[in-house]
Amino acid sequence: MKYFGAHVSASGGVENAPVNAHSIGAKAFALFTKNQRQWKSAPLSQKSIDAFKENCSKFGYTAAQILPHDSYLINLGHPEEEALAKSREAFLDEMMRCEQLGLDRLNFHPGSHLGKVDEETCLRTIAESINLALAKTAGVTAVIENTAGQGSNLGFKFEQLRYIIDLVEDKSRVGVCIDTCHAFSAGYDLATEEAFTKTFAEFDAVVGFGYLKGMHLNDTKKPLASKVDRHESIGDGFLGKNTFKFIAQDARFDNIPLILETPNEERWAEEIKLLYSFI
Ligand SMILES: [Zn+2]
Ligand SMILES: [Zn+2]
Repeated sequence: MKYFGAHVSASGGVENAPVNAHSIGAKAFALFTKNQRQWKSAPLSQKSIDAFKENCSKFGYTAAQILPHDSYLINLGHPEEEALAKSREAFLDEMMRCEQLGLDRLNFHPGSHLGKVDEETCLRTIAESINLALAKTAGVTAVIENTAGQGSNLGFKFEQLRYIIDLVEDKSRVGVCIDTCHAFSAGYDLATEEAFTKTFAEFDAVVGFGYLKGMHLNDTKKPLASKVDRHESIGDGFLGKNTFKFIAQDARFDNIPLILETPNEERWAEEIKLLYSFI
């Protein structure tokens, strides 16, 4: 089964996300469980939690179709102690919110070294941050997203994702999310069938499809290996429709949330239809 969807708004409460997803014909969705640009948010109310679960079951969304995304402020590889502690605390709160909502995965960007420590030190810090959060939660998998490698963001190479996974104690609760725009911007070609096959063979060899817990489906405004993260609507960028056709027709991407983060939300319903037409 292919679960195509989009990162929908949860404004007015998390319970609105499944309603918004259903309204665009999505069979999967992503959401922020709190304001993604603020450190502090009020705890989820029981009323909101109940309504979220009710709406998910009403519209047929199981945990395997939902990929919550954490706040953009969090840097689990922060080189400074105080800032790192703040990020770790916020990440734990995000994991607990997922737990409360009955969700089984949380997608996050690994972290940035900010030019203050080397890559390995930062990757080790990220792994330790994951270990700390997993030790205090149950049932939620930490899903590391690949990045475009913009600035000092790590996670742009499959080897970096693997390096983190190797240091996570509970391998059953760590996974990855591959963003097509980020992969292409990081230098992994996905635009032709040959390139797509080669990139995912490399992914399987280095990370392993067993760890794939979600995908972000985005075309890109920037060329291969640009290291710049600029999403584009499906078919309008350097990837083109074929990349998404390959994904739609490949069983290795079954049964995980496949999430659009494309810039024009007016087009999501049409993009989801297009993706289903590729199967
Ligand atoms: Zn993404
Ligand atoms: Zn992005």
